[in-house]
Amino acid sequence: MLKAKNSVGIIFFPAYDWAISPSHPEREERLLYTQDQIIEEGLFDIKGIHEFKPLIAGATHINRAHVSVPDVDTQASISHKISAGGALKSAEIVLTKEVNKSFALVRPPGHHARRVVHGNRGFCNINIEAVMVEDIRKKYNVKKVAIVDTDCHHGDGTQDIYYHDPDVLFISLHQDGRTLYPGSGFTDEFGIGRGIGYTINVPLPPLTSDSGYFYVLENLVLPILSDFKPEIIINSAGQDNHFSDPITNMNITAKGYAKLTEMLNADIAVLEGGYSAESALPYVNTGIILAMAGLDYSNVVEPTYNKSELIESDSNLSIIRETVKEQLNRWQNRAAIQEKALKGREFINSRRSVYYDEAGITEHQNETLFLCKDCTSFYTMESSGDNYKIFATVLEQNICDNCRDKASEIFKKNNKSNFDYSYWMDKSRDDYKRI
Ligand SMILES: [Zn+2]
Ligand SMILES: [Zn+2]
Repeated sequence: MLKAKNSVGIIFFPAYDWAISPSHPEREERLLYTQDQIIEEGLFDIKGIHEFKPLIAGATHINRAHVSVPDVDTQASISHKISAGGALKSAEIVLTKEVNKSFALVRPPGHHARRVVHGNRGFCNINIEAVMVEDIRKKYNVKKVAIVDTDCHHGDGTQDIYYHDPDVLFISLHQDGRTLYPGSGFTDEFGIGRGIGYTINVPLPPLTSDSGYFYVLENLVLPILSDFKPEIIINSAGQDNHFSDPITNMNITAKGYAKLTEMLNADIAVLEGGYSAESALPYVNTGIILAMAGLDYSNVVEPTYNKSELIESDSNLSIIRETVKEQLNRWQNRAAIQEKALKGREFINSRRSVYYDEAGITEHQNETLFLCKDCTSFYTMESSGDNYKIFATVLEQNICDNCRDKASEIFKKNNKSNFDYSYWMDKSRDDYKRI
């Protein structure tokens, strides 16, 4: 009988009753063929591979990651709560050492959901990785976390949630934002405040294939991870870089995904996108599970695989080499870049507009991030969407007493008559209220 070298927990939640619409890429049967394939290949018969049932994320879990407008239940359906609960379970079984590694094979996805949520963006309402990371910090006293997002789309929601946080390293590899939704994730987006340097974007040219991807892993991602020394590595394992994906333009194979899983050696993988439900997902997921288990994946080959079509071009390779060089240089100089940017500043004000493609909402944000040398501090956010205008004061889990007093003063002083709702979001005490 085949035995896994690493024990792996799989949390499977295909959400067969949830879809954006019947013909949408994010629809009910997305994981149907994956389910058939995993059973057909006998993956659950391998000693050391176990299936676990998801938890259900509650309002407190979601409040740690988001300001949900107008409230949690409007933004999170039961499917969203179970999908996030799948991620929570995948963390629990790894952190309690029930298994070596875990894979939350769940939907709906989450990495485009930002701190403030007015509706669905890029198929996402609730950022399932962020819900998990906040729980890991709260329950298991973990400080340093790395999230490596290998979905084909820039993980802009996860970036937004941790942009100011030096304890969560966020690395996103994605198809160049000039050619794909959401149109962000450029090399000059590298964090704000004390988080400067801890967001690393690697935009890749269309048609990047396995070898280009491995180059980035080997020469940028792995060296940065070995410098940062996270206590836990999470892979946002989107599968829409596959050559057969209908909504993107990349050339990664199932075996390529398996090898990148092996190279990255993440503790937890969480499914994000991937819309080639029949030609890619069954093979990619099989490859990922075998690689996590430390087993041979050399026989995982898609029926439509044609090697000659998937060779990296020289021009792509030279673009990728340049990007890797630029980002490695930025990483190595992050302390000096941060010092220069923050000199003499007590807070940073920034404004942005966010478009919710699925909900058709445009949001305007005005954020003030407060800086403290002792903690990740807090920020205030004025946010107006098409339906609501809100004010939020968000306190990070490690906030110091001085910063809490300052936040409380600002919250009390703000003029409620200007807003529909004012939110107090104290993650350190799990104290959430809306007035
Ligand atoms: Zn995607
Ligand atoms: Zn502080």
